[in-house]
Amino acid sequence: DLRRRLNLNLRDEFGELAATFDQMLGRLDAAFRRQTQFTADASHELRTPLTIIDLELNRALTQPHNCEEHRQILELVQSENVHMTNIVNSLLLLARADTGQLTLQRQQVDLSDLALECVERLLPLAREHDIILATGDLPELLVNGDPHYLTRMMLNLIENAIKYTHGSGQRVHVELTAASDKWGMLRVQDDGPGISDEHLPYLFDRFYRVDRARSHNPSTSSGAQKEVGGTGLGLSIVQWIVQAHGGDVHVESQPGKGTLFEVRLPLLHIPASQEALATSTH
Ligand code: ADP
Repeated sequence: DLRRRLNLNLRDEFGELAATFDQMLGRLDAAFRRQTQFTADASHELRTPLTIIDLELNRALTQPHNCEEHRQILELVQSENVHMTNIVNSLLLLARADTGQLTLQRQQVDLSDLALECVERLLPLAREHDIILATGDLPELLVNGDPHYLTRMMLNLIENAIKYTHGSGQRVHVELTAASDKWGMLRVQDDGPGISDEHLPYLFDRFYRVDRARSHNPSTSSGAQKEVGGTGLGLSIVQWIVQAHGGDVHVESQPGKGTLFEVRLPLLHIPASQEALATSTH
């Protein structure tokens, strides 16, 4: 009888503890949701004034100028406005992802179509940086994914590889492979400066940049369209997109030896031509 009563007491205490814990978690969850909702609302509200500033700056810049300094100031403000718009758009995307307001519009997508499109879109940027942007094998790899977000993920990775690879004639290499009959792999490799070990664990953290001064330096940007990234949010977005598609992303890098980003995505199915290839490699 005593044992039964003790048991009951213990169960009561555990029950109370569990209920308190549950309440605390509930309150924490609600606070987190309010916070992310606030970020989403704030980012959303900021988009309209930023668009108006951009329109007005464009209008001002197309007026005849009698003062070169005046024009340069306007260009600098415009470039900062583009940078701020990028941050706000990225924050809005991440806040919507956090609050579950982002849903993927999935369809059958061929990763090789998207990769080719991204490479073509980024060829002018590569040319501007004097980088050789090359593709390796780009076999047909079908996934059940959202083409808009998958494109965004690829653009972020390739754009990073281009903008952080210094030195003319360096290479950025993009390729696709069937890692197995279930997984497709995107590889973006560069000959850039590489990233040292101490930074690697934080690379996908929001606002994390290895070299803050170099990543965004308005005095060296020569115009609004040329300012690329520097928000520290690009890789967080890449990670969210990849994970939302059931995949994962890894980075391998060594100072002086370049950087490799590998994205693994679940395949919809392997086309017959690739199937033979995938099985012969195992
Ligand atoms: P950012 O907008 O600064 O590019 P990201 O989240 O895309 O933000 O990247 C975070 C940081 O990781 C960058 O600021 C840069 O320091 C580093 N990084 C990303 N890709 C590369 C790369 N291919 N080579 C070297 N460093 C890189």
